[in-house]
Amino acid sequence: MKTSLVWFKNDLRLHDNEALCRAIADADEVICCYCIEPQWFDELELGFKKADIHRFKFLEQNVNDLQANLENIGGQLIISAESALTTIPRLVEKYQVKAIYAEQEYASEELNLLKQVTQKLPKTELQLFWGKTLYHIDDIPFSIHNIPLTSKAYRIPTTKTSRPRQTYKAPKFINSPKHIVATKFPSYKAYGFNCNDYNNAKPFLKGGESEALERLEHYTFGTENLSGYRWSRNKSLGMDYSSKFSPYLAVGSLSPRTIYETVKQYEQTVTKNQSTWWLIFELVWRDYFTFKGMRFGNLIFMTEGFKSKSLDFENHQGKFSRWKDGKTGIPFIDAHIRQLNQTGYMSNRGRVNCSSYFIHDLKIDWTWGAAYFESKLIDYDVTSNWLNWHVQAFEIYYTNPVHQSLKYKANNYIIKWIDELRDIKDDSIHAPWLFPELMEQIDYPNPIAVYKKWQRSINSILKKALS
Ligand code: FAD
Repeated sequence: MKTSLVWFKNDLRLHDNEALCRAIADADEVICCYCIEPQWFDELELGFKKADIHRFKFLEQNVNDLQANLENIGGQLIISAESALTTIPRLVEKYQVKAIYAEQEYASEELNLLKQVTQKLPKTELQLFWGKTLYHIDDIPFSIHNIPLTSKAYRIPTTKTSRPRQTYKAPKFINSPKHIVATKFPSYKAYGFNCNDYNNAKPFLKGGESEALERLEHYTFGTENLSGYRWSRNKSLGMDYSSKFSPYLAVGSLSPRTIYETVKQYEQTVTKNQSTWWLIFELVWRDYFTFKGMRFGNLIFMTEGFKSKSLDFENHQGKFSRWKDGKTGIPFIDAHIRQLNQTGYMSNRGRVNCSSYFIHDLKIDWTWGAAYFESKLIDYDVTSNWLNWHVQAFEIYYTNPVHQSLKYKANNYIIKWIDELRDIKDDSIHAPWLFPELMEQIDYPNPIAVYKKWQRSINSILKKALS
């Protein structure tokens, strides 16, 4: 009799889950477990948690949904508040587990944990499967240490010579030992959150594979919003200007290959256009950052980056606090940060502007900003986050937030997140400090600083106001 264990990590799904399918095919009985590593919610020296309440709650919803879905097919999910380092050896001994099945990791903290668990279990077979990316790591035309430095040099050869593999169907039945009792996701209290934090946290989306698959259906065949993605993707207001797949991709409750297959079907039955191409292009970006992050390892977390370049930072604590609180006095920045604080999500346009302003205007060490995003984003993904910040620090020079606020007509978006500005109906909302009478009537801060490079955008706001 062979008993195997599936160790779920960032692959919280039944669909397209190779580790789960192989374990079921190879063993008589399968045990499933998920471990919450206590240090995920530690307090950082920067003064906030490594992962904050929205991430906690979103994770809880995803894990609970996985548990329910496993139960529907005859399985159980053991949810452990103890580290995998103690939980997995205990389960191996208790159930005489012969083999462990899991997704392969790619970043240092997760790789270390995997290594330590394996070292504790030298006699147990370990089967690891690549699952994170659209293109399988073995199918790309580069070895990791040769991943190109530009995305184009990666994308063109990859998409020309390779294809994403077919998805695995969700299993219909799982045989698990009868005496296993499912355990509950631990309370927020164990991680230093309080009742108010927990009750008030409203992650932008509800977590879980079921919700993820519904979202995929909604964005594609349901609303056909996908057809306009190319032209709407740079907006910030609402649910449907972009796919919102990222939170589900981050915890693995949605597989990138399932998105790919759905988009291909959509192209055959609804339309094939620049938008359908672009959504897949973004998934290829995500792959590229994963492989590039593997190439550079821990250098992607360093202030000097992987090119060892130094930037001139001032690291002013007061400016850092105002940025984190959404009180810089720049509405386009503040609205995005307030949305992040209240929901755990921010649009790509917002992320580009908030990071560029942080690095090039406030002159604060970019790794502090990346750590703050890591704490808050429900779609936090190691390489997508740290390498996008890296790009803002070292590759793209600057994004002007006043110009962008005007260009993307962010008026209604700003009003949604900054209540103090709700009565402003014209373009003064992009730069309220230019209008002293207005500033007297509202309780909104003056900007930390106003930069010369914003002058053209400021002139255009003033010109409109005077006409
Ligand atoms: P869509 O526009 O619908 O894109 C579809 C999918 O493509 C996304 O779900 C995502 O998986 C992928 N994608 C899109 N843009 C990027 C990109 N620039 N880099 C990598 N993948 C991309 N994305 C994360 O998933 N996690 C992060 O922690 C993260 N941190 C970021 C930090 C900064 C400073 C910046 C500038 C970008 C960051 N992004 C991150 C990328 C991007 O902002 C989000 O993926 C996107 O906003 C998610 O919304 P969506 O799913 O509606 O995206």
